[in-house]
Amino acid sequence: MPEGHTIHRLAEDYEARFAGGPTRVTSPQGKFTDAAALLDGTPLEHADAHGKHLFLAFRTADWIHIHLGLFGKVNFGDAPAPPPTDTVRLRLANATSYVDLRGPTTCALITDDEKQAIHARLGPDPLRADADPSAAYHRVSRSRTTIAALLMDQKIIAGVGNVYRAEVLFRHGIDPYRTGKDITPTQWDAMWTDLVALMREGVRHNRIDTVRPEHTPEAMGRPPRVDDHGGEVYVYRRADLPCHICGGEIRTADLAARNLFWCPTCQSR
Ligand SMILES: [Zn+2]
Repeated sequence: MPEGHTIHRLAEDYEARFAGGPTRVTSPQGKFTDAAALLDGTPLEHADAHGKHLFLAFRTADWIHIHLGLFGKVNFGDAPAPPPTDTVRLRLANATSYVDLRGPTTCALITDDEKQAIHARLGPDPLRADADPSAAYHRVSRSRTTIAALLMDQKIIAGVGNVYRAEVLFRHGIDPYRTGKDITPTQWDAMWTDLVALMREGVRHNRIDTVRPEHTPEAMGRPPRVDDHGGEVYVYRRADLPCHICGGEIRTADLAARNLFWCPTCQSR
């Protein structure tokens, strides 16, 4: 499942290619045909993201709400667009670009009120200017659930996925099994500030890099990580490999339905 930085990057890319001019809106697969017909020919006004939810505004009160889920994919290309396959749920096209959406969990036309209700269900998103980290800490600090599970709960903090949760806990030396109520305000503020910076970098580079300058392959004289997701990380998908800092083995376990990775030596706080 993509993490929040991917969705914010998609919002930027939709705007960069389509905002302002008339847009052809179609649903080659047929599942979004009626809504597409309503929007066809009108300009995309802007795009917005909150956590893993993407919103495309076409008129003042009409939004396309997209959630990619596990299998959704978005592909941008330059015009002329090739004939769409029948798996394309939503295609936008103009004189210079096209973008195809396939396999989303959600692709629906919603009103502004419905959009507000989605925002209200989600926790603050470190990538949004309106995010209030104290709202998240209010819930974290009252919870007996592990911090590793709380970081994946979109109602508490939106947009953090499996990679960022593992990496931010490592960067702050925090034991992933520590309960929310044992996380101090200082620890929470430091993790939040770090997530804002790391996730902004993620939007900029469209990948997740979390190692500090002194731990890059060049600085350490080690080979770069080999992984489809790219990016240099401390613990994510590094089970049984030596920790970049202490040399001990990185561990893995199932937590909140996803594989957790951590270093028991470095993460003891
Ligand atoms: Zn370590």
